[in-house]
Order: sequence, then C-alpha cells, then structure tokens
Amino acid sequence: MASWRDNIRQVEPYVPGEQPKNTNVIKLNTNENPYGPSPRVKAVQDNEDLLRLYPDPTAGALVDALAEYHGVDASQVFVGVGSDDVLAMSFLTFFNSDKPILFPDITYSFYDVWAELFRIPYKQMPLDENFRLKIDDYKGENGGIVFPNPNAPTGIYESLDHVEKIIKNNPDVIVIVDEAYIDFGGETALPLIDKYDNLVVVRTFSKSRSMAGLRISNPELIKALNDVKYSYNSYTMNRPSLVLGVESIHDDAYFREKVGQIIATRERFVKEIAELGFTCLPSSANFVFATHESIPAKEIFAAAKENNIYVRYFDKPRIDNYLRISIGTDAEMDVFVSFLSKYVKEYK
Ligand code: PMP
Repeated sequence: MASWRDNIRQVEPYVPGEQPKNTNVIKLNTNENPYGPSPRVKAVQDNEDLLRLYPDPTAGALVDALAEYHGVDASQVFVGVGSDDVLAMSFLTFFNSDKPILFPDITYSFYDVWAELFRIPYKQMPLDENFRLKIDDYKGENGGIVFPNPNAPTGIYESLDHVEKIIKNNPDVIVIVDEAYIDFGGETALPLIDKYDNLVVVRTFSKSRSMAGLRISNPELIKALNDVKYSYNSYTMNRPSLVLGVESIHDDAYFREKVGQIIATRERFVKEIAELGFTCLPSSANFVFATHESIPAKEIFAAAKENNIYVRYFDKPRIDNYLRISIGTDAEMDVFVSFLSKYVKEYK
C-alpha cells in the first residue's frame, strides 16, 4: 500500500436521514417543517445580484435582525450554514483541551463524528433508564460540554433549572446548549447568556423556519468563533440565504402560527397512536420517539417505507425498538395513522 494513504484522515461519517428521489412519499424522517416558509420569504424576487456578488462576510443584515428579535447585541450573534456549520465551528473553536468533552450517549449523532474529525477526546455519558440527563455526570474535570435541549432523538426537554446547574458546575469550560427544537416546547437558555460567560446557545431555522442556522453567545466567544470562521471560509452563507433569513425573522406571526399547528398535530398524533399500542416519550420537539408494545420498530419502519412513508430508525443499543417520527401536516399524519392502524390489525 502506498504510504500517502497513512496521511488521509479516516472518519466514520454522520449518516443523515434518507432523502428519497421519489417525491411521492410522506416524509417524516428528517424533522423538516411540513409547511413552507413565511410568504414574505417566498415574495423575495430572484435578483441577479443575489447570485452574482459575494455575500456580506459579516452576514450583517441577518445578524442585526436576529439580535433585535432576541433582544441581544449584534456582537453576541454568529450565523452559519445550518446549525451543523455553527456547531462544527464551535467544536473547532471551543473544544481544544486535552480533557474529554462530555455529551449524552443517546443524542445527536453528529457530536461524536465532529469529535473524531477534529480529534477532540470525548466521553458519552449514559442517560438514565427514562432517557433523562443525569446532571451529576456533568461535574468534575472535562474539556467542555454539549447537549441538545430538547434532546434528540428522544424529544425530552430538561428544565432550565437543570441546564443552569450544568453551566454553573462548569465555569472553566464552554457549555453548548443545542436548542434545535426549543421552539416546539420548553424554555430557552438564552436569558442565561448574560449571567454565564461560558455559555453558547445554538439555534436553527431548519425546523421551525425552514432555513439556515444561527447562534447566540457573549461577544468574546463570538469573536473567537469569527476568527476561526475567517481562517476557514469567509463566505459561509450565500446572499439569497441572508435575505431570506431576514424576511423570515420579520414574520413572527406566521412563525408562531405554524409552530402552534405542529404542536397541536403532535399532541393529536400521540393520542391516536396510543390507541394502537404505541408509547411515545414526552416530546417537546417537532418529532416523537415511539415504541410499540409488541411489534418491533424495525419491521414497522420497513413496512412504512414500502408504503412510501419514511420515518427514522436507529439501529443502536437502547433505542433500536423506537421510531423517530417527524410531525407532518394533519393530512400526512392521518395517512400514517390509517396505515399503522391497518398494519397493527393485520400483523401476525
Ligand atoms: N442539532 C440537532 C440536535 C439536530 O437534530 C439537528 C438536525 N439534524 C441539528 C443540530 C442540525 O440542524 P441544521 O444543520 O439543519 O440547522
């Protein structure tokens, strides 16, 4: 074997949910918002300059709109291409200790991939038997902490009180709270950024708004992030995304209406599938994590796919009998419930 192979970085990549080529499917597998973005976003006309010119590297208009919306200073906001971009940049910027960073054993499956990619030592802390975070596990020496709240793929929300304890117990490292799903339930940790200089809160447009990704923290941390970003690629966000992001932020009524609709559909769906023998973990997200009393999740996953209904299945210890089901429109969930009802009845 040629020795240049020794210098190639070996990584086991993150596996995203399937994006089927066939458009004739009910797609409940990647936690997208089933409703389109705000009509204001759709109204922005294609403008040649949106594509011809380099974007503003500071993403100023979007940063300002977000700062105003969240009642913080622009120096506390950093944006990227999806929260994956923001999280990856954060791992690179903040997790440079020889001590292991900590995150739950059942969580967003990109965290260990970034840790491996950037050669950050890490330790996965087991959730308890009810899939709850054990805050005492996040004490003692570590190189940083990251966890989603609500967690994924469980959907379980930990109280702000718990979150604050974790931040407070770790003043010497950066704590990243990944709030990808916070719009669908629970209290944000944002107010804590004025109290703790080691806190970073990450948000995304992907779930509740259908776009981009953003991040809010204290100015010193944001400067550190920007220094890393400008050492890597100045133009991470393109012009159309910046313009569309601002339009989305400016239509709060539409955003609230659609989030409310998804929460209502979630609650109805949980009740309906309970009658078919499913139990869902308490969800504060735009998905539910469901298990059936007798039918293996893997079989339901395959049968649904045969019927053009895509949900997510993780073949991993402790969660291999669960399905993660994103909340679609009422009509989509009705089709799924009818399918499940027939499938459960006829299952032998
Ligand atoms: N964090 C969590 C917990 C997620 O589930 C996801 C969705 N895959 C992300 C971050 C990334 O979302 P995006 O890059 O679309 O903003």
